[in-house]
Amino acid sequence: MAADCAFCKIVGHELPEFKVYEDEKFLAFLSIDPKVVGHTIVVPKEHHRWVTDVPEFGEMWSVARKVGLAAKKATGADAVSFLTLGFQVPHAAIWVLPRKEASDGHGKVIDFSIHIHLKKEQYEKLAESIAKSV
Ligand SMILES: [Zn+2]
Repeated sequence: MAADCAFCKIVGHELPEFKVYEDEKFLAFLSIDPKVVGHTIVVPKEHHRWVTDVPEFGEMWSVARKVGLAAKKATGADAVSFLTLGFQVPHAAIWVLPRKEASDGHGKVIDFSIHIHLKKEQYEKLAESIAKSV
């Protein structure tokens, strides 16, 4: 665990999260600044700076795929986009973004100026319905 790492704090339950998936190596939770409805973040429980540093790199992508398919089903999305920019929080992460091609407002790429606002109950419901399908 790295000090002052927000994702390590979520893994360590020092910060709250809307969990959608957990196994012994990975955790997936809803973004609290979602770009689309169902925006989920997959992280390794161990602190790694970059996705390319994660020893179980392939396994991490398999988790992202599994979570992505569940989020797609739960939100009625057409497809899933994945992003690994890595500069927002210094902890390896894959963004899982269920996309509605005609109506999510993003066009072909993700528009970072879009912020989806959800109430706590909506996050809880969404997390529950994604978790059910993973
Ligand atoms: Zn960390």
